[in-house]
Amino acid sequence: MDKVIIIGAGLAGCEAAWQLAERGIPVDLYEMRPEKSTPAHHTGQFAELVCSNSLRAAGLENAVGLLKEEMRRLNSLIMEAADRTAVPAGGALAVDRDLFSKFITDTISAHPMVKVIRKEVASIPRDKLVIIASGPLTSDLLAEEILELTGEEALSFFDAAAPIVELDSVDLSKAFWASRYGKGEADYLNCPMTKEEYEIFYQALIEAETAEVKGFERNLVFEGCMPIEVMASRGFMTMAFGPLKPVGITDPGTGRTPYAVVQLRKENIQGTLLNLVGFQTHLKWAEQKRVFRLIPGLERAEFVRYGVMHRNSFLNAPNVLKADFSLRKMPDIFFAGQITGVEGYLESAASGLLAGINVFRRIEGQETLVFPSETALGGLALHLEGSPSTDFQPMNINFGLLAPLGCRIRNKKEKNLKISERALKVLHDFIEEKSLNTRKN
Ligand SMILES: Cc1cc2nc3c(=O)[nH]c(=O)nc-3n(C[C@H](O)[C@H](O)[C@H](O)COP(=O)(O)OP(=O)(O)OC[C@H]3O[C@@H](n4cnc5c(N)ncnc54)[C@H](O)[C@@H]3O)c2cc1C
Repeated sequence: MDKVIIIGAGLAGCEAAWQLAERGIPVDLYEMRPEKSTPAHHTGQFAELVCSNSLRAAGLENAVGLLKEEMRRLNSLIMEAADRTAVPAGGALAVDRDLFSKFITDTISAHPMVKVIRKEVASIPRDKLVIIASGPLTSDLLAEEILELTGEEALSFFDAAAPIVELDSVDLSKAFWASRYGKGEADYLNCPMTKEEYEIFYQALIEAETAEVKGFERNLVFEGCMPIEVMASRGFMTMAFGPLKPVGITDPGTGRTPYAVVQLRKENIQGTLLNLVGFQTHLKWAEQKRVFRLIPGLERAEFVRYGVMHRNSFLNAPNVLKADFSLRKMPDIFFAGQITGVEGYLESAASGLLAGINVFRRIEGQETLVFPSETALGGLALHLEGSPSTDFQPMNINFGLLAPLGCRIRNKKEKNLKISERALKVLHDFIEEKSLNTRKN
């Protein structure tokens, strides 16, 4: 029987190992911790949550809630661990991080089909089925090897992403579409500020709490892309002369140039998601929500991704990966987790689940699968293959990545629930058609 090599026992690697092992495939799972750690991990446990203990929203009116439910239906180990170790967190699914990692470590280590090897992998076997799930903090030696394998020039980026909000959640009685000096298309959604509003925003921003800066990030943080809060701290007017400059913009509500303006730019082709231009930030996520909601028009903004600043190793997926998570050039090499360009704990685990199923199918001589675009699992994978490769950025799951409903429903919650209902029905039929389940629901 073919043995599969999995590199990295994080969220993606463990889920992939589980999916294979439960289908009777032997796995060698390599993990370099605790002998060699990453700058963000603290333990030798598998699937360690390096930051927040929240796996985000639980309900089906939210895309990450749908992703969770889809994973449950495919016998996800990460979801079983999360459900067993959940702590009260309102509408979110948060876990006791130690129990969560312990459950996964114990379950994987005890599985008769899994052999755990605590060792840093520096070279990738070319003659075996391999899943590389070494995460955003892939060790340097392995990162070099991956570059050689893929023919890419760079893998590690300093991830300095601005927050992304849903267009639907912006108050369009305040924000307006326009371009500077009315040139070209009105591509920017502008949130105008009076002097008083700017003052309140400025004050909140310079007083807001930032996330801890890790040693490995310290040298990177201020290179090239300055966090908005650092810019603000340089002087009251610095932002108003920088990304918030109002020149050439007239507020149709007042007929005047605002004191300052925050611009939002389309993030996806459908135009349903917008990023806050120039707002790369190191603020804590809760602080981002609190402070950025002070911007006129964003009072009820829904954030599909918060701004982040940390080292992040990820492939330029549209160039090198197929939506079944295999390498275009070497189909026996698969990738999973944050290194593929998905973003987030759940998304990483979901990609591990898909890579595991596809490696199994390769062994069985069956075609590999791309899940339907109506499902969150499909939307996630198709985003990797189908995004423009010039500025590919990791993305959390959101409803904008799924096929549109094809009918208009005004109430957003209702609309989202309909999308989820459709997704689960499509997934059910797909699971039956392809005989994907390892156990009966
Ligand atoms: C600082 C930081 C904070 C983050 N905070 C959040 C958050 O709050 N919420 C969220 O949803 N997402 C967060 N993320 C993003 C991401 O979801 C997590 O990093 C997630 O753990 C990724 O899962 P993964 O399986 O791809 O990688 P990991 O969980 O990191 O697993 C990869 C594993 O591979 C091992 N490894 C690496 N190189 C080698 C090698 N050469 N040989 C053997 N083993 C190796 C590592 O030790 C690690 O155990 C954060 C990322 C970072 C870097």
